[in-house]
Amino acid sequence: MSLLEVTDLQTEFATRDGVLRAVQGVSLALERGQVLGLVGESGSGKSVTGFSILGLVDPPGRIAGGSVRFDGQQLVGAPEEALRALRGRRIAMVFQDPMMTLNPVLSVETQMVETVLAHEKVSRQAARARAVDALGRVGIASPGERLAQYPHQFSGGMRQRVAIAIALLHSPELIIADEPTTALDVTVQGQILYEMQKLVREVGSAVIWITHDLAVIAGLADRVAVMYAGRIVEEGAVADVLDAPAHPYTRGLLDSVPANNAGGGRLNQIPGMTPSLLELAPGCAFRERCRYAAERCAGMPELSAVGVRRVRCHFPLTAAAAVA
Ligand code: SF4
Repeated sequence: MSLLEVTDLQTEFATRDGVLRAVQGVSLALERGQVLGLVGESGSGKSVTGFSILGLVDPPGRIAGGSVRFDGQQLVGAPEEALRALRGRRIAMVFQDPMMTLNPVLSVETQMVETVLAHEKVSRQAARARAVDALGRVGIASPGERLAQYPHQFSGGMRQRVAIAIALLHSPELIIADEPTTALDVTVQGQILYEMQKLVREVGSAVIWITHDLAVIAGLADRVAVMYAGRIVEEGAVADVLDAPAHPYTRGLLDSVPANNAGGGRLNQIPGMTPSLLELAPGCAFRERCRYAAERCAGMPELSAVGVRRVRCHFPLTAAAAVA
């Protein structure tokens, strides 16, 4: 049994203009200690998938179907109390904005100590020692002294490290990280990714790392799932998918990574816009932007096995075409 099994997940939002189907039949599995990159442009449904797994979809949003099993336990429809207990201890979330985790009016010490005490019967002193250790592990110098400070006394990068330290306090089995390094400059981003990778190895947590940036995934994840218009369009081992993408959209995303473009040349952007999820035409959602589109693409492709990966395309790129 996988640590996490998501099957046919459907999440939708009621809007004035109709029902917006943000996640449409997402299925994925994650093993202990594995890092999965969930990649897509904004509006692809990747963050909503993360929030849905955690049961954090508020009205007018709702999980309209499917199943999320964590260590065998069904989370869809589980009582809020049970979800809260899991979220505090066995599953952790790291947000793009660390202030979604941190309370600006409490010292870091108070926040970290209370987090430990909320889930474990240990002394305040032991909780404090744990907090100092966690801050040290995410690369914060003089953690004992910095513990007494307030969030505004930390830089953006340091604040995100504190949020990650809080997420790791209970050595969670699953961490869902939603673009946690996107707002940081590239050097800080690199340091945090490196430390995160090290910590995940030490703790053995499974991670879903949500990002729009394939370059981030290359160095961090074991597997990658690429989302487009609410659906997974390609999923497989990072090395396979990034070396030879089989879906035209994945190929387009890779071509638009600056490092993959010849120096000084223009970036190869995918033409067109992401379609509105309110008015999705039947068939492949990528076909308006796809240079391989053909008549058959008016019918929705299934997510099918191509070798050892899954691809949602009637005409998956062959390895030769994908690297050409
Ligand atoms: Fe392109 Fe057709 Fe594949 Fe969609 S199904 S990605 S339109 S080739």
